[in-house]
Amino acid sequence: MSFNVLTAEISHETNSFSLHKTGKKAFLARYALMGAAAIAERGDENTELAGFLDAGRAHDWQITHALSASAGPSGKIRRKAFDWLCGPILSSIKEHQYDGLLLGLHGAMGLDFREDGEGELLRRIRRLVGKKMPIAITLDPHANVSARMCELADIIVSFKTYPHIDMRNTGHQAGEILQRTMTGEIKPRTTYVRRPMLEEVNGGRTDIGPMIERIASARTYEEQADVFAVSINAGFASADVREVGPTVLVTGQGDFSAHTAFAETIADDIWNRRFEVLNDYLSVDETAAIAANYQPTKGPLVIADYADNPGAGGYGDSTELLRALLDANVSNACFAPMVDGELVQELQTAVVGQAVQITLGGRTDPDFGGGPLTLEAELVSLSDGQFTGDGPMIHGLHGSFGPSAVIRVDGIEILIVTLPRQILDLQQFKTFGINPQTKDVVALKSMQHFRAAFEPISGQIIVCDSGALCTPRYDRLPYRNVPRPIFPLDQFEI
Ligand SMILES: [Zn+2]
Repeated sequence: MSFNVLTAEISHETNSFSLHKTGKKAFLARYALMGAAAIAERGDENTELAGFLDAGRAHDWQITHALSASAGPSGKIRRKAFDWLCGPILSSIKEHQYDGLLLGLHGAMGLDFREDGEGELLRRIRRLVGKKMPIAITLDPHANVSARMCELADIIVSFKTYPHIDMRNTGHQAGEILQRTMTGEIKPRTTYVRRPMLEEVNGGRTDIGPMIERIASARTYEEQADVFAVSINAGFASADVREVGPTVLVTGQGDFSAHTAFAETIADDIWNRRFEVLNDYLSVDETAAIAANYQPTKGPLVIADYADNPGAGGYGDSTELLRALLDANVSNACFAPMVDGELVQELQTAVVGQAVQITLGGRTDPDFGGGPLTLEAELVSLSDGQFTGDGPMIHGLHGSFGPSAVIRVDGIEILIVTLPRQILDLQQFKTFGINPQTKDVVALKSMQHFRAAFEPISGQIIVCDSGALCTPRYDRLPYRNVPRPIFPLDQFEI
C-alpha cells in the first residue's frame, strides 16, 4: 500500500527579549521555499526534509511537500506572518486526502498572540484532520516542549546532537515511525517530563559532558519493542514562557509508567548535575589578554562570543569583544559577523583599499554588549553576502548575510553584514576572502555550533561572555512569564 504523506518544515527559535519582532520579511530573508523549490535546495542535504524523503522512497509514499520556511532567531512572530506560514499546510489538507503528516519544526516558536507557536500550528491542523490522522514532528533539542505539542502530535523525535549534525537521520527516524503507524502496526503517543530550569546547564552540548551518557541511555531504551523515540531537549532559555526548560520525551506504546520512570531518571540527572558548567565564561578583557599572548603553534585561537550569538536571537552588533581585542592590539585576527546594515550601505560609495572613518555596531541596545565604535578602517571588499556551506552542519546549503563588507582595523579583518547569522561554517569567512586557517586569532559569534567546523582547525578554543542579549547571566534579563521558582534564577530544592 502506498501512503499519501504531507510534509513541511517551519522553524523559528523565538527570543522573547529581542526588540525585533519577526514578520514575513524575516522568513523571506532566510528562506521560504514552496514545494519543489524546497526539495531542490534541501532535499539531498543534511536536513529534516531529506530524511523525510529517505523514508518516503523506502516505503513508496506519494509525498506532497507544502513548504520549508525559517527565519533567523529573533523576537515574537507577528500573527499575519504566522497565518501566512500555516497557509500552505492548511490549504493542502483541505484539498487532499492524506494518510499522515510529517513536520520538521523547531519547538521554541513564540507568537505575539500565543506563547506556544508549534502547539497553535498543531491545533489548527487537528481542527481539520481530526484526532485519528497520525502526525509526526521533529524538533531541535533547543525546543521548549509544551503539553499541547505532546497531546496533538503522536510522534516526536528531536535531534540528538549539539552541534546539530543529525537532522537528516532524525527526519528519517520520524518517517519510519510514521510508516509503522500508518500501516496500523503500532499506535504511538508521546509522554514527557520536565524540570524547573531555564535550560540544561550546558545547553545540551553533546561533544563533551553528561549529555553523551544520557543520549546513550536514550538510544538503549529506544531498542525496546514498545519504544520508538526518546528525545532529550535542553530547552531554550531566552524564551520567557510558562512551558520553558529541559524535557525528556518518550514516543512509545504499552507500559507508559515504565516509559515515564525512565524519562524521570534522565530528568533527575539533568537537575542533579545543574552546577556542572563546562564552559569557562571569560570577560572580554580576560579574552583579549589571552588573544594578545597567544602562540598559534597548533592552529588559531578561536574565540566564541557566546552572548552575542545571532543563532539564539542575539543582535550580532555587540561591540564589547571587538573593542577589547583592538585595545589589546591583537593582530593577524579576524572577526565575524558585525551586524550593521547601515554602515554597509554607507560603504557602497567608498573605494576598496581606501581609508574610511566609520561608526560600527552597537546600534540596537548598547546596554547589552556595548555601543558604537568610532574607528579608522581600510575597506577591503564589498559583496552581496551570499555563501554556500561546506561543513558538517550546512553542507551544500545556500545562505546570505545580505549586503556585506570586509574592513581592516589595525591587525583585525572584520566582516560587516546586514542580516544576523551565527558563524558555524568556514565558508562564512572564506567566501569573503578571509582564511581563518592562516589567522592567529579567529573571533566569531556562536555558542556551540561553531565547534563542528572550527574545532578541527583550532589550536585552542575559549568562550567569552560579552554581556550581549544571550548572556549566560540570566539574572540580567527581565523574565516575567517563566514559572517560579526556577533554576538558576531562584535558589531552591525539589
Ligand atoms: Zn538548536
